[in-house]
Amino acid sequence: MCPDEIDFLPLGMDDDERSFYDENKVNINMQIGMIEREAQERAKLDHCYYCNEPATSFCNSHSVPKFCLRRIAVDGQLFFANTLIDLPYLKEEQGVNKAGTFQLICRKCDGRIFQQYEDPNAYDSLPNGQVLAQIAMKNHLQMIAKRLTERQLYRLLVERNPLVGLWFAKEQQKVIDLDLGEYEYAMCRAKVGARGKRTNYYRMVFYRKLNYTVPIAFQGEITMISDFEKKTINETFNKDNRYRTEPLHIAIFPLERASVVMAFVDSRCKRYKRFEEQLKQLDSDDQLLAIQFIVMSYSENVFYSKSLKGVFQSNEQLATVSRMNSMVMTDRLHANVQPVANAEFDLSKRNTIPNLLTLQYAI
Ligand SMILES: [Zn+2]
Repeated sequence: MCPDEIDFLPLGMDDDERSFYDENKVNINMQIGMIEREAQERAKLDHCYYCNEPATSFCNSHSVPKFCLRRIAVDGQLFFANTLIDLPYLKEEQGVNKAGTFQLICRKCDGRIFQQYEDPNAYDSLPNGQVLAQIAMKNHLQMIAKRLTERQLYRLLVERNPLVGLWFAKEQQKVIDLDLGEYEYAMCRAKVGARGKRTNYYRMVFYRKLNYTVPIAFQGEITMISDFEKKTINETFNKDNRYRTEPLHIAIFPLERASVVMAFVDSRCKRYKRFEEQLKQLDSDDQLLAIQFIVMSYSENVFYSKSLKGVFQSNEQLATVSRMNSMVMTDRLHANVQPVANAEFDLSKRNTIPNLLTLQYAI
């Protein structure tokens, strides 16, 4: 633990944990599988989250458009974050049909409400406000589905282990409830914009069209902690329910013979102004590297072409960056986590990893 008694729990396993896992593999896999299935079952709604109609079966919604995943897949398979994080109870690769999916809305809605953004032609020129709103809406839905499952997961942990997990689980429940409130609030705006009624609900922070196909596919919302000068963007550890975090929506879409890399915000957001200026000052390759680093360090919902196998094996830093996690370990109740988090997510760390969005790695 660092001197100020605050540390971040990296994803992945250390050597001791791995040997414990190896000795108890069958039992651990069975327990994890059971808990996950039960949490997913308990988190299931009895209605479609979008239209509110009663539902018993849900669409397998992809958090990243399927046409992007298919474009970079090899024999229908993709590498994903765990290929680098290397948790042994998760697989090394994922099939396109299961990659980054969630079940929250009915089939009818899934086929209707994302039509504009799931059309590759939407990226021939600068995507319009409706497309951005549909991307934002998908990002919110994905996070809502994730948090609903996590909420049940922590409840299950407490039920099974009341003494050990109680304080930790209660704290996590608080964070999940705060997050859910924010996503639901943001969802209302995205819903209006996604119907094409308002075109100015989102503002582009970064946009680049590349004339080659990149080996990475990503879509998600990221609540950035700090900027290029290690100054706070969001106080992600602030548990005051009046404090709203501001997410940055990022998309890396590999297309047939091109790619789009973009980042945008809710047009009411003010916190990314400085970050945006700093990003603009970087040279064009470095801007791409910064976006790639942000995606890899903050999110696990990223997919890679298997053409990157050699790079993954030869560069350990890619795994280190993928394992970064904002879950904090501290033995002080009111520890000032923010400055430590700002340093942990220091964007200059991008210089330790290869720039996978450059022509060199194109497929
Ligand atoms: Zn529906």
